[in-house]
Amino acid sequence: MTANPQKTRETDPLKSIVAHAKEYGFIFPSSEVYDGLQAVYDYGQNGVELKNNIKRLWWKTMVQMNENVVGLDSAIFMHPTIWKASGHVDSFNDPMIDNKDSKKRYRADELIEARAEEMRESGDENGADELLSKANGLLDREDLDGLRDLIVEQEIKCPTSGTANWTDVRQFNLMFSTHMGSVSDDSDKVYLRPETAQGIFVNYLNVQKSGRKKIPFGIAQIGKAFRNEIVARQFIFRMREFEQMEMQFFVRPGTEMGWYEEWMQKRMGWHKALGISEDSLRFHKHEKLAHYANAASDIEFKFPFGFKEVEGIHSRTDFDLKNHQEFSRKKISYHDPETNQSYTPYVVETSAGLDRLFLMMLCSSFVQEEVKDGDNVKERLYLKFPAFLAPNKAAVFPLVKKDGLPELARKLFDELKMEHQAIYEEQAAIGKRYTRQDLIGTPYCITVDHESLENQTVTIRERDSTNQERIAIDKVLAYISEKVSDQQVLAKV
Ligand code: ATP
Repeated sequence: MTANPQKTRETDPLKSIVAHAKEYGFIFPSSEVYDGLQAVYDYGQNGVELKNNIKRLWWKTMVQMNENVVGLDSAIFMHPTIWKASGHVDSFNDPMIDNKDSKKRYRADELIEARAEEMRESGDENGADELLSKANGLLDREDLDGLRDLIVEQEIKCPTSGTANWTDVRQFNLMFSTHMGSVSDDSDKVYLRPETAQGIFVNYLNVQKSGRKKIPFGIAQIGKAFRNEIVARQFIFRMREFEQMEMQFFVRPGTEMGWYEEWMQKRMGWHKALGISEDSLRFHKHEKLAHYANAASDIEFKFPFGFKEVEGIHSRTDFDLKNHQEFSRKKISYHDPETNQSYTPYVVETSAGLDRLFLMMLCSSFVQEEVKDGDNVKERLYLKFPAFLAPNKAAVFPLVKKDGLPELARKLFDELKMEHQAIYEEQAAIGKRYTRQDLIGTPYCITVDHESLENQTVTIRERDSTNQERIAIDKVLAYISEKVSDQQVLAKV
C-alpha cells in the first residue's frame, strides 16, 4: 500500500503511536543505524518492562492459577522431521504473486480479500461473499492458476505501480532454515520454529510421565517464533521474529468441544480483565479450518487498522500427537485410569501473540485529550496502562535539588526499588517531570518537598486524574504495592 500523504499525525493514530513508541523508548526499528531490517523490531527500556509484565501476567494466570497447567521452555531448534510431521514443510505456505513493474510481492489471497472489502464498502455484499467463496475454493484445491485468473478477472492492480502486470502465483514456505554443524548440505538443515506448539507436543510424554499428570492437563510455553512473512507491515502486528504465548490442553477424545468453549470464554475474560473495552474485542469463528482443526476461533482487537487477531483458540484434535507417533515410531498414548482405556489425547490450544498484545495495550492506553489550563485549552497526552502492567510503577522526585530534599527522596526511592520498577528524577521543573512520566504511563509520581522535612509526608500524584494526595513517607511502599497489585485481575480470571 502506498502511504497517503494527506494523512497527518492526528488523522492516522497508528502513525502517532509508532512515533511515540520510538520517542519514549518502547519500540525501535531493528538495526536502525543501518536503515533497519524489515519487519524486525527491538524493545527499548520501557518496552521491555511492559512486555515482561504482560508475559508475567499471562504466566501467572495460565500456570500459577491453574493447578492442571504446567510450564515448559523448549529449544528453538528442533529435529527437522518434527516440521515434516506437523505439516509445516509441505503446507506452511502462502500463495504469493509479484507485480512485474513495481517488483512488489503480495499475498494473492490478501489482494482478493482487499477487493472483496472494497465491494462491501460500496454496498455489494453479495458480490463480496461470492468472490471470497470462489477464492476459498481455489485455495482449498491449491489451484494457483485459478487464483491468478481471479486476480486478472477482477482487474486488481498493484497499489504501487497501478498496473495489472502480474507473475504467476507461487507457493512460498514461511519457515526460515539454516544449517547445524560445519557441513552445509541438506542433511544438516534445521528450521527456526514457526510456532512454539510443536515443542510442547514432542515433550508431551516427558511432562506427563515426569509430572505424573492426569488428563485433562495443559502445558504452557512462552518463546520466540519466526516466519518469513511475505507482506510484513502494520508495525509489530506482523513481524518476522515474534513471541508467542501458547498453551496446549490435553483432553479425552470426545470432550474437546466443551474444553474449547471453556478456554474461549476464559481467554476472552483475560483480555477484558486487562481493561480492554468490550466493544474493542470480538470473536471471529473460522469457517475455513486448518487441516489439523475441528473448530477454531480468534479473539480480535479493534486496532486503528481494523479488527485483527491477537489470539487463536483451536481444537487441534489428535493430529499432532498422532503424526509425531507415526514419524518417530514411538508410542504416544495415555492410559486413562478412569475409563481404563488407552487413547491419543485430543488438544485444545490457546495461542496468543505477545507482540500483538503489546500493541493492543499501547493502542488502548494511548490517550489524547483536551484539558483546561486557566483560560486556555491544551492537549494532554498520556499512556493509561493499567497500573499492574505499567513499565514503571512510580517515580520519585525531590522538588528542588537542595535543602536535603534529594537525600530524603533517594531514601524513599531505594526502599521502593526493592519491590517495584521505579524511577528517580531530579532534573527539570516538576510539571515537566510529571508530563514525562505521563508519556511513558507511570501511574504514580511521588514528590518530596519542604513540608516532607517537617512532617515526614510526601505528595502522590495519580496519572489519570492528576489528583494529588499527601501521605506519610513510611506508608508509601504499602500504598504503591496495593495500587499496582495484580490480585484483582487474577481473582477475575
Ligand atoms: P495471521 O492470520 O494474522 O497471520 P495466524 O493465524 O497465522 O495469524 P497463528 O498461527 O494462529 O496465527 O499464531 C498464533 C498467534 O501468534 C496469533 O494469534 C498472533 O497473535 C501471533 N502471530 C502470528 N504470526 C505473527 C507475526 N508474523 N507477527 C506477530 N505475531 C504473530
